[in-house]
Amino acid sequence: MAKQPMLRFVDMARDMPTKRAAQDRSHDFDEIYAEYADAKAAEQASRCSQCGVPYCQTHCPLHNNIPDWLLMTATGRLKEAYELSQSTNTFPEICGRICPQDRLCEGNCVIEQSGHGTVTIGAVEKYITDTAWERGWVEEIVPRAERGESVGIIGAGPGGLAAADVLRRAGVQVTVYDRHDRAGGLLTYGIPSFKLEKDVVLRRVGQLERAGVKFVLNCNVGEDISFQAIRGQHDAVLVATGVYKSRELGGPGAGASGIVRAIDYLTASNRIGFGDEVKEFDDGTLNAKGKKVVVIGGGDTAMDCVRTAIRQGATSVKCLYRRDRANMPGSQREVANAEEEGVKFVWLSNPKGFSGDPVTGVVVQKMRLGEPDVTGRQSPEPIEGSEYTEDADLVIKALGFEPEDLPTLWGEDALPVTRWGTVMAEFNTGATSLADVYAVGDIVRGASLVVWAIRDGRDAASAILKAFDEQGAQVAAE
Ligand SMILES: Cc1cc2nc3c(=O)[nH]c(=O)nc-3n(C[C@H](O)[C@H](O)[C@H](O)COP(=O)(O)OP(=O)(O)OC[C@H]3O[C@@H](n4cnc5c(N)ncnc54)[C@H](O)[C@@H]3O)c2cc1C
Ligand code: SF4
Repeated sequence: MAKQPMLRFVDMARDMPTKRAAQDRSHDFDEIYAEYADAKAAEQASRCSQCGVPYCQTHCPLHNNIPDWLLMTATGRLKEAYELSQSTNTFPEICGRICPQDRLCEGNCVIEQSGHGTVTIGAVEKYITDTAWERGWVEEIVPRAERGESVGIIGAGPGGLAAADVLRRAGVQVTVYDRHDRAGGLLTYGIPSFKLEKDVVLRRVGQLERAGVKFVLNCNVGEDISFQAIRGQHDAVLVATGVYKSRELGGPGAGASGIVRAIDYLTASNRIGFGDEVKEFDDGTLNAKGKKVVVIGGGDTAMDCVRTAIRQGATSVKCLYRRDRANMPGSQREVANAEEEGVKFVWLSNPKGFSGDPVTGVVVQKMRLGEPDVTGRQSPEPIEGSEYTEDADLVIKALGFEPEDLPTLWGEDALPVTRWGTVMAEFNTGATSLADVYAVGDIVRGASLVVWAIRDGRDAASAILKAFDEQGAQVAAE
């Protein structure tokens, strides 16, 4: 039997604006469409049962007040819904688009748990903030009062930008350094534009620029300016550099041409989207058009690569993963999307080597799942004699990322790092053991999520403000 939406908070007959619009000939198409879209969002939001045990909120890293802004959306109070949503999330329209909601808010929705299909929380969050931008409700950032302190932020990804937003609103002088020519970090050059349109990211960067945040781009800290010089110029420094060292593959033929890193492939594709000239795309090195593509890996980066390759016009796209579907780290939603688009998944398969140079194939070792390891996941074991070759003329390695060796690159032995190379920082404040140096996002957590980087950036900015206030009070008392 078809599932019925629960219309508890909105009388759709009363609020159905398309009907109103049809009667009012003065409405133009945009107005009619806007009213229709509002009604659709209200309909979806009204499916929230206001259960009183908001697991969705608990499982959102920002603890967004989801039930309340759903209720506001359901009852047509879109502007209030936007205001509430942006009070806990610096970039709601970005999270609404790219959070793996099935693992966070939506996966824990009680409507989903009871088998009726989740309230599409992310889609509503995206809708209310996109609408706020369209209708001019998003206000410029106006510092409460200018403050004398300055903060240098290294890295213009979501962690750095979220911190910049909080600090600038409080009147702090903020400079963001980034080695790329555009701000946004992986929002700009990692995540493909079919998941996150780039104007959505750059609109936020523009908002920060207009508020007085200074961006120093094409500036590789450690090469173009030293970490020590940045510390000398600012009262506090926030490290938000992400993780960019790609995990590599071994085996015979691993150095052949035609075997490329996922980050290079995705960056080139995003640059082409901006209209940049990219030599390696034009000469075919980082372009899947007309090729048999094999992507190696089972995470979200691998999903982005396979779906990008399909869009570039690859003749076939296969994804090799050493475990099975149930044990892959990537989102099941992404796998389903990729399969719908024509990607073939080759489960329980590990690359053992490569043939040809340029590459012509991947030598595949079939695997079976054995005993669980310390993490509880079943370890893949090779099946002897099962090797075969998958044809490929472009192989994309998407095996994950590790931190660069920051203490060495920056000549700063005192920067505390864990044995994995991530920066050691306090959770909730981002404070490191180096005086006035904080760290947030992937460089602390290892490869993680945008929403966690935003959470960290906001928390660290609050901690920096608290430290400034305490230092100010101390000076005043002396
Ligand atoms: C392909 C891909 C797809 C992803 N898709 C999703 C998704 O759909 N949803 C999701 O939630 N997460 C996704 N993630 C993860 C997410 O993008 C990251 O967790 C998030 O961007 C981390 O934010 P960050 O601010 O810590 O670092 P980043 O976004 O990596 O930003 C770090 C910035 O620091 C700069 N930088 C680094 N070193 C230096 C230096 N020495 N000097 C100056 N600048 C420097 C870099 O240029 C970069 O701009 C994806 C990741 C990848 C790789
Ligand atoms: S920020 Fe992410 S997890 Fe939180 S409500 Fe939005 S989509 Fe869900």
